[in-house]
Amino acid sequence: MTGVVRIRLSRSSVGAEEKEALARVIDGAYLGMGEEVRLFEAEIAALIGGGREVVCTATGTAALQLAISSLDIGRGDEVIVPTITYVASFQAVGATGARPVACDVRAGDVFMDMKDAEKRLTASTRAIMPVHYASGAGGLAEVYAFARANNLRVIEDAAHSFGNDRDGVKVGANGDIVCFSFDGIKNITCGEGGAVVTGDTALAQRLRDGRLLGVEKDTEARYGGGRTWTFDVKHQGFRYHMSNLMAALGRAQLRKLDRFAARRRVLAARYVQAFAGMNGLSTLELDWSHIVPHIFVVKVHDSVREALAKHLKAEEIETGFHYQPNHRLTLFKTDYPLPVAERLADELLTLPLHAELTDEEQDRVITAVLCFFRTR
Ligand SMILES: *Cc1c(COP(=O)(O)O)cnc(C)c1O
Repeated sequence: MTGVVRIRLSRSSVGAEEKEALARVIDGAYLGMGEEVRLFEAEIAALIGGGREVVCTATGTAALQLAISSLDIGRGDEVIVPTITYVASFQAVGATGARPVACDVRAGDVFMDMKDAEKRLTASTRAIMPVHYASGAGGLAEVYAFARANNLRVIEDAAHSFGNDRDGVKVGANGDIVCFSFDGIKNITCGEGGAVVTGDTALAQRLRDGRLLGVEKDTEARYGGGRTWTFDVKHQGFRYHMSNLMAALGRAQLRKLDRFAARRRVLAARYVQAFAGMNGLSTLELDWSHIVPHIFVVKVHDSVREALAKHLKAEEIETGFHYQPNHRLTLFKTDYPLPVAERLADELLTLPLHAELTDEEQDRVITAVLCFFRTR
């Protein structure tokens, strides 16, 4: 087709405010970690509430790895992870030396299945990593009950959930350790970036030091415009800090979060309404009015997922696949089946959703989907 604008699956929503923020940092000629990062963390803490510690990092994957590592979880330890997640969750665990142990998911919302998680528990299990798949986290109470009963730490991969409410409080306001991502297409972006949020103040200090090579109190020195020249190092550290450039971009995005959230909710609600009662396709069982949808995933039945994706591609509409099960990858292969995930792997399809998507573009997506099923 010519003359038709391609509809993107996802994209950043940035403009004059972000340019201004970056120019401000460049004019100040202090590009690394300093005042902007301190302010960004304070603003995130204020937004989330609950008096939480916020430690920003270079990526969301770095946030996950740093969190696990700072709990002294590593070689010989196991962390239970749902198999349907971005490979980042698995690689973050693996990078600490610990083994990511794949568990199955629930068909309705693709959240980790705690009955299966129970089967994955061994004497080496130290932590569990629930993933807020497509911004949903409906099974979190069960995860925390399981963790309490088995003395496990919980590291929430909330990469899809920044800005979400759950039971009237923001995601991150409670729970053990909650990690966010600010990569280019997430609910807000810093270009790349991430954050660890926790109420554990001792852990927060480990995280602050750990992101700066384990140099004790270097974060505090940098926030004062200096740095630590003589120091001790007691733990493995990383170069995982965030720069002022990234934080300034993130601060401009934070000011737009309400608008982004409202738009994403409207778009998800329009999809849900348009696809209600269909036979060949179903939407996820999520609490749509409360989440800030990061991706819009549908389940395509009767083995026509590839045909639908091809049809949409011909209509200049991008689609995605979140995600192939990690336990099918060479590095993370299991010797046990995960049947729900394996079935979902043939059904999941992601439709375009981002803050810049117009009603007209979304109508094109909806019409193309409905047409595909009508003409079959
Ligand atoms: C984006 C994402 C991450 C990693 O975040 P980066 O900032 O890209 O490193 C981790 N888990 C999930 C589920 C994600 O979508």
